[in-house]
Amino acid sequence: MFVIESDCIACGACADTCPAGAISMGDEHYEIDQDKCIACGACVDTCPTGAIVEK
Ligand code: SF4
Ligand code: SF4
Repeated sequence: MFVIESDCIACGACADTCPAGAISMGDEHYEIDQDKCIACGACVDTCPTGAIVEK
């Protein structure tokens, strides 16, 4: 699964990239809705801070 860690600076780039609409702002940073994520990995390369990681 892909998750967004605390390095997120809330730029929103990943949300615009996600084909499944699985990323949105959470309480402290952007978050991935695991029920919507299709694990395509597209968001990983989009993030300027490397905050999105596969676990
Ligand atoms: S892995 Fe793909 S589907 Fe999942 S959050 Fe990232 S861009 Fe969206
Ligand atoms: S692209 Fe990275 S820094 Fe920007 S909102 Fe997504 S996780 Fe946060």
